[in-house]
Amino acid sequence: MHEFSAACSIVDTALEAAKSNNAIKVNVVNIEIGEFTFLIPEQLAFNFEIASKNTIAEGAELRIKNIKGKLLCSDCGFEGESRVDPDIPPQIAVFAPMKCPKCGSSSTTITGGKDFIITNIEAEIPDSTI
Ligand SMILES: [Zn+2]
Repeated sequence: MHEFSAACSIVDTALEAAKSNNAIKVNVVNIEIGEFTFLIPEQLAFNFEIASKNTIAEGAELRIKNIKGKLLCSDCGFEGESRVDPDIPPQIAVFAPMKCPKCGSSSTTITGGKDFIITNIEAEIPDSTI
């Protein structure tokens, strides 16, 4: 239920942002998800739909941008994009140490791609000039 809790927090954040802008409806939610969140975009979109039911974000489009994970290797000093073995399913990869793409060492620290962030939302705001 990894995706569901993520979807709930996305809905909460979107609703809060909408409320503080006096929006009446959320149309689009733009998010970025890091590789190391291991969130599956299709699952996330599906759970977003459920989590947003009966809120002003119901029916909003979730636009997902994937962000590459970043590693720092303490053996060779490599810092950069990780390379997750595509053969490892995400459920297992989350527990596996990330290997340095340069020297193959497992003494790596994840320095990026662990989070998902809402970059912005598009919402309907009633004309307040009346
Ligand atoms: Zn290395």
